[in-house]
Parts: sequence; C-alpha cells; structure tokens
Amino acid sequence: MKAGATRDEVAVVEARIRELGFTPNEVPGSTRLAIGITGNQGPLDPGLFNVMSGVAEAVPISRPWKLVSREVKPDDTAIKIGDGQFGGGRFGVIAGPCAVESREQIQATAIAVKSAGAHFLRGGAFKPRTSPYAFQGLKEEGLQLLAEARERTGLPIVTEVMDTRDVELVARYADVLQIGARNMQNFSLLEAVGAQRRAVMLKRGLSATIQEFLMAAEYIVKQGNYNVILCERGIRTFETMTRNTLDLGSIPLIKRLTHLPIIIDPSHGTGDRLSVPALARAAIALGADGLMVEVHPHPEMALSDGPQSLTPAEFATLMESVRAIAPVVGLEL
Ligand code: PEP
Ligand code: MN
Repeated sequence: MKAGATRDEVAVVEARIRELGFTPNEVPGSTRLAIGITGNQGPLDPGLFNVMSGVAEAVPISRPWKLVSREVKPDDTAIKIGDGQFGGGRFGVIAGPCAVESREQIQATAIAVKSAGAHFLRGGAFKPRTSPYAFQGLKEEGLQLLAEARERTGLPIVTEVMDTRDVELVARYADVLQIGARNMQNFSLLEAVGAQRRAVMLKRGLSATIQEFLMAAEYIVKQGNYNVILCERGIRTFETMTRNTLDLGSIPLIKRLTHLPIIIDPSHGTGDRLSVPALARAAIALGADGLMVEVHPHPEMALSDGPQSLTPAEFATLMESVRAIAPVVGLEL
C-alpha cells in the first residue's frame, strides 16, 4: 500500500482478496503496510490490484515462503524488547546458561551477563536432551527462577518451549519463546507460538536447509506473529571434530531473502568454548542481528553443555571485542 493509504483503502483491498477466495495478511512495515496474499495456487495478475485506490504496487512473490520474504517487505523487521533490539541497525545479545539449575546459578549468571552488557538472559527450563536419562530441566520451577532473575536485573528472558501443551505456561514467564533445533519442523508447535503474542526465536534444525528454515518461520508468521528472530546454530555435516558446522555463509543470503532478523549461536555451533569468542566476533562482523552465547558461573560443573559455556569473565572480554567491532559495520548494541 502507499505510505498514506487509509484504513478504508486497506479494507477494500482486503475485501477484494477475500472475494477472490484468498487470504489477506497484513505485514506491518516501518513506513508502509504490505498485504501478503496467501491461499492462491499459481500467480495472480498484478493488474487486479494495481488499479485499486491506495495500492502502490502489486508484486508477485517468486519464493515459496511469502510473508517472511523481502519481496513482500523490503525493510528490516526490528524486534525491540527491553533494552535489546534485533534488526534495524541494532545488535542484540542473549547470554546465560544452557539450563537453569538453581537460584544461585541463574542469579549469579544474570548479574554477571548484565554487567558485561548482555540485553537478554537465556536459560532452559524445559530441556530437549538426546538421552532420556540426562537432566531434563527444572520445568515450571526453572521458569520461576528466570522470572526472579529478571526482576533482579531487568533482563528479559529467552527460554525454550518444547511442547504445544506448555506454550501458555512458558509464555506467562518468558519474553521470547525459543523453538529448539529439534522442533524446527514441529508444525503444530510453530502454529501454537504463532498464535500467541510473545516474540519467538526459531533455531535452525539439525539438518535443515535454508528453505526449510524459512518455511518454518512462515508457519509462525502466517498465524499473525511477525516477531520472529531466526537463529543459526550450526548444522550436521560429515565433520566430527566440531559439534556442528556453524553455517556463517548462510547469513548474508538469509538477510537478502527475508526481512526477519537472524542471530548466531556459536556455542551450539561449535560445542567448544575456545572457539566461541572468535565466532562471536565473526557474527557481528558479518552483519548478523545478534548473538546467543552460553555462559555458566562454573562450566566444569554445568548439568548440560559445560564444554561450550564461557565463564562470566570470558563473556565480558568477548563483549568488549563485539562492542569494538560494532561501529565498523554500522551496528549499535
Ligand atoms: C539450547 O539453546 O540450549 C539448545 C538446546 O539449542 P538447540 O536447539 O540449538 O540444540
Ligand atoms: Mn545448550
């Protein structure tokens, strides 16, 4: 729609789309509104809409993902929560332990990462573990401990939801709902987080292509929730010396294909804390929109992902270098 299009003009266009048997989806932009049409099989004639009052242009979307594509919305989607922002020239930093283990552990981590400059506290309360015998998380008690840490530090919370049955519970405590790599194609979970109002961080699946990743985001956005942050966390390749292969090469491409912000998780991306700082610096140099890093006050005692967790001191040093690189690439923390 044109920048000054009225609500009436929008309503007429949407009514026309419905009349044709399709669905209008409003995609909010910084200067103008786009209306994404879904439900059509094959291309529509742009002339159907170009003649309508208030329409700037009708653009056929050539990709199978539509609402998340840059074609429907050329400007970046910026997601601002608390003092942190992903996209639109800002670089958001999420830090915290893999799992919430105790009040002392999460409070100490929250205070440390906040003073080092993190914008968000992470910590899993529901943990997707490869072994059913491994620590599965503190569940609701973990969520309560996260909420206490938020009260203490002001840091918004990012935490994983693994099951549609828990979406309401997790959304009661969390500021950002994390969809883990193993659930990237759990379509009912994607629809459930799309139908609620909290922002969502969607992690790339273990063996997901970029197309599958963007189609998963499309499932969430199609339900009306445009606050989706993508997260590259490494994919499975033939390499066995790193936990995963962090696909940094996907970032510039994903930024061209979608308006959604994309962040990098070098902790799961490598599984190796000695590699994390260099990849975190690469993340900001590349033009990613943020970073997620695992930090634990005593990595050697962590109940999960200790080998890839930074100490608070290592995280503080990393943040200094990230801050130094930011202005070079035109980003602000
Ligand atoms: C995590 O963030 O702790 C996690 C389980 O990540 P992933 O889903 O990427 O493995
Ligand atoms: Mn982890």
